[in-house]
Amino acid sequence: MAYVIAEPCIGTKDTACVDACPVDCIHPKKDEPNYATEELLYIDPVECIDCGACVPVCPVSAIFALDDLPEKWSSFTARNAAYYGK
Ligand code: SF4
Repeated sequence: MAYVIAEPCIGTKDTACVDACPVDCIHPKKDEPNYATEELLYIDPVECIDCGACVPVCPVSAIFALDDLPEKWSSFTARNAAYYGK
């Protein structure tokens, strides 16, 4: 399992989650070139250790454990993985 960033992140990209993540698996960061062009941030599904630290710091509640991801946003699971070529 991994955590997934969903639709509420679009247009927000707050990055509090980036700072909260102990394994640095949320990208792009603000200082990465594609931060400006990506619609949202993504969690690497292989590197994520399922700690949940990113969830409470998100101001728009965009991050979900896979089991809790609302059905309407199910496509975001693949979208997060695709960013990392996974
Ligand atoms: Fe990082 Fe933990 Fe969130 Fe996974 S659940 S993205 S390891 S903070």
